[in-house]
Amino acid sequence: MTVREYRNEADACVMIFNLLCENGDTLFKPITAERFEELFLDPSIGPAVFVGYEGDRVIAFGAGNCAGETGYITYIGVLPEYRRRGYGKAIAEKLEGALAGAHPEMKKIELVFYNPTELPWFIPGHAPHDHAGQPGVDMSTAAYPFYESLGYRAWTVQNTYYLPLSEYRTPDEMARRLESLRENGIEITYYDGSRHGGFSELFDNIGNEGWRRRVMARLDEDIVVAVKDGKVIGYTGPLSVSKEGRGLFCGIAVRTEYRHHGIGKALFAGLCKGLSEKGATFMSLFTGDNNPARYVYESAGFGIVRSFATMRKIIRKKEKDTMCIFCEIVAGNIPSNKVYEDEKILAFRDINPQAPTHIVVIPKEHIPDMNGINAENSGLIAHIFETIPKIAAAEGLKNGYRVISNCGPDACQSVKHIHFHILGGTQMADKMA
Ligand code: AMP
Repeated sequence: MTVREYRNEADACVMIFNLLCENGDTLFKPITAERFEELFLDPSIGPAVFVGYEGDRVIAFGAGNCAGETGYITYIGVLPEYRRRGYGKAIAEKLEGALAGAHPEMKKIELVFYNPTELPWFIPGHAPHDHAGQPGVDMSTAAYPFYESLGYRAWTVQNTYYLPLSEYRTPDEMARRLESLRENGIEITYYDGSRHGGFSELFDNIGNEGWRRRVMARLDEDIVVAVKDGKVIGYTGPLSVSKEGRGLFCGIAVRTEYRHHGIGKALFAGLCKGLSEKGATFMSLFTGDNNPARYVYESAGFGIVRSFATMRKIIRKKEKDTMCIFCEIVAGNIPSNKVYEDEKILAFRDINPQAPTHIVVIPKEHIPDMNGINAENSGLIAHIFETIPKIAAAEGLKNGYRVISNCGPDACQSVKHIHFHILGGTQMADKMA
């Protein structure tokens, strides 16, 4: 077994890549030798490519890249008859070593959607419509246990939903739902800037700057909105159709105080109908396992076609004060007894419980303490407080509970990563300090 740095073996590598596409080992779209170079060897992405030889035959290759603190493994493929001989592991280790050597600032390697090299892929079992990069490691393949065995840890699961729009039917109960929303003064319609206000405030409320940027620049396009008293309280869109017929939109959201009234489902029904009318033939959606959007998609008839794990391995520790114990828990380097997780936050049982139920809730982003809350990250804290009642309910804390956050030395904060203790399951003292 020999693993060496790439030296013009594009044809052999493409043969491996395409074979694993054709035999169903991967969902990727086959590539050409020319495309191979554009994808894997683009000098602007800090590429690394290694090739495995058995004698003088190329039987495996792997590719990655790095920009800044994050490196990425894009692909590792081994011909089926040469598996279980350590080629995949040897290539992964060479890639990690080469990326760490060439990029001293690199802290971690990830397998995620944000990889600058986007390998197009197809939804399994359906006509080949290109999708941009995969949102992580395909959990139904051997790649998932392979990366786990190399020390990569999953931190979210991203599900891919798919529906041919010819199969979409507005749910029977939608007419009743729209009627009841109307009775409460809420109308689902297309956005009309001359009649509707409050779009910008919606993004203040939900705290998503990416959506604000993308949607506010396209207000003249078709956007489905929920409106109350002339004010936008929810949106989805703008609606557009890709040349392959995929229905596209940028986000779906409802103001926090109007959630749980079925407005999301009504917006989504408007979206599916609008996209069909514009000629879209299918929709593919991606969302986290714990994201409530999944219930909207599932109730509209969308099914999960694949689940992907976002995976990460820490290569170099960050400075001590930022890679705190809770960041280590988020990264999967320290185990925890998780009770809730989504893309933004994590809740786990306290290692040293002070009550029958003692759960610590943290944002995944490192905020040192209460004094670190600002306009940019306060949406995260709001999200924590929206989630706490759900965690408490799931824990059966019907009789109440206490939420505490210690800030600074006087309050005996011992972990410098903002966190909220949920304490319950007993009658607590009425003195608080
Ligand atoms: P505080 O004293 O408010 O900073 O709270 C920190 C809390 O984190 C304490 O209650 C600790 O028991 C808890 N804690 C520290 N390390 C861990 C860990 N590895 N897993 C779970 N809880 C932890």
